[in-house]
Amino acid sequence: MDRTPFYITTPIYYVNSVPHLGTAYTTIAADALARYRRMTGHDVFFLTGLDEHGQKVAQAADENGMTPQAWVDSIAPKFQEAWDMLDITYDDFIRTTEPRHERASQKLMQTLKDNGYIYQGHYEGWYCVPDETFYTEEQLVEGTCPGCGRDVQFIREDNWFFKLSAFQDRLLELYHDNPTFVQPDTRRNEVLSFVEGGLRDLSVSRTTFTWGIPLPFDPEHVMYVWFDALINYMTAVGYGSDDPADVARFERFWPADVHFVGKDIIRFHCVIWPAMLMAAGLPVPKQVFAHGFLLTKGEKMSKSKGNAITPASLVERFGVDAYRYYFLRDVQFGSDGSISIESMVQRYNGDLANDWGNLCSRLLNMTEKYCEGVVPARPHAADATSDDDEVRAIAEGLPAAYEAAMSRLDYVSALEGAWSLVKRVNRYIEDSAPWGLAKSEETRPRLDAVLYNALEAVRISALFISPVMPNTSADVWRRLGVSADVREVTDLAAAAGWGGLAPGSQVTKGDALFQRIVEE
Ligand SMILES: [Zn+2]
Repeated sequence: MDRTPFYITTPIYYVNSVPHLGTAYTTIAADALARYRRMTGHDVFFLTGLDEHGQKVAQAADENGMTPQAWVDSIAPKFQEAWDMLDITYDDFIRTTEPRHERASQKLMQTLKDNGYIYQGHYEGWYCVPDETFYTEEQLVEGTCPGCGRDVQFIREDNWFFKLSAFQDRLLELYHDNPTFVQPDTRRNEVLSFVEGGLRDLSVSRTTFTWGIPLPFDPEHVMYVWFDALINYMTAVGYGSDDPADVARFERFWPADVHFVGKDIIRFHCVIWPAMLMAAGLPVPKQVFAHGFLLTKGEKMSKSKGNAITPASLVERFGVDAYRYYFLRDVQFGSDGSISIESMVQRYNGDLANDWGNLCSRLLNMTEKYCEGVVPARPHAADATSDDDEVRAIAEGLPAAYEAAMSRLDYVSALEGAWSLVKRVNRYIEDSAPWGLAKSEETRPRLDAVLYNALEAVRISALFISPVMPNTSADVWRRLGVSADVREVTDLAAAAGWGGLAPGSQVTKGDALFQRIVEE
């Protein structure tokens, strides 16, 4: 059966900073979707990578006494190590200094020129190097960058321009025809009003430094770093290559299904990028989804403000699965969210150690104690009580509820759905009291039925928890004696079918899944 392609991207991250909570957040969210789409049988292509050009990178290299290439080469492994640590299952890690990307960028630039959308002009205005963004005099806030508040420099150059202004109507038509092109709606409205206000042509080349991709028709100029950066999404799936395999891959995966971005870069992704594609006669991405900022005590997390906690320190303390869970469960994706060690400890102890970990331990413990560690026989449907039916109904409703939540990147609802089953099973065990049923031979069939139902519900809940907590879920499946690996599931509906747990399987209790954290 031919699987449906599904193409997911993170932004390519600036090499000038090391991976931090913000970049990890975007990447984890994209990874959870990638894992989920693989489970629903899609042929997933998941891209992340690095943005390695631009004035800011050249300056940082200079300050560190290195060539720009040596500088970016020294940073790239730090990102790959961080993503490995966080169990990110990317299919490709693109670096914009790769030859394949230079080729793709030049091809797109040449196409836009040939199509009449690139012209020579003169630029005078302000530029924020840390943001690599042009600003007009009116946009400045007290003479500083409206984005980051830092000093801006005045530049005066003969540049090449992209006729962005020609795309106002077509962009508005795009937002109208595809209302979920920009999500969430708050961001969509922001983009709409920006474009309705009129678009100015964009300077797309620089001559005052050389760290960039030369224009194919004027090599004295290097491409504006954002212009080259956006093209990475096409490079990775084969654009710019004549190799038939690459051509076929591009046909298959382009346009991307979703670009994950932070809300600070939506104008590039929702205005400039689709306009570039329209100008080249190429399809635009199906969706750009912008998440919010992570705040600590109301302030945006950033390295420069010195309030950064590193991903590695949190992984060391909480473990990788709990890390992934916390950020996707505690912050509504798309909104700003406050994060803190206190709330992370609360989530960990409450949702993970208590609800999920205890449920698994208790159940496996009882299976060892009352059933010699063997999954009991499947109960007859005719004997099911209303409690049994309720547990089963929640489990059987999960695939649809989870799909609805994940298709709008609502990780909170998706996880709440999985937890509704976990919580219901906890109550089911309390109400059914297997320890009482174990006291008499007469209630033995009921004991077996309760344990089977509860174990089966745990098996199914692990499935739906696995895109976010892949290791714990795989561990739970192993303990339940399931021979398959939860991470290898490609037919979620079949895997989630009630009764899938094989009677007679040997379970193993093991250590606590999550050790409660006692705060110092
Ligand atoms: Zn700035």
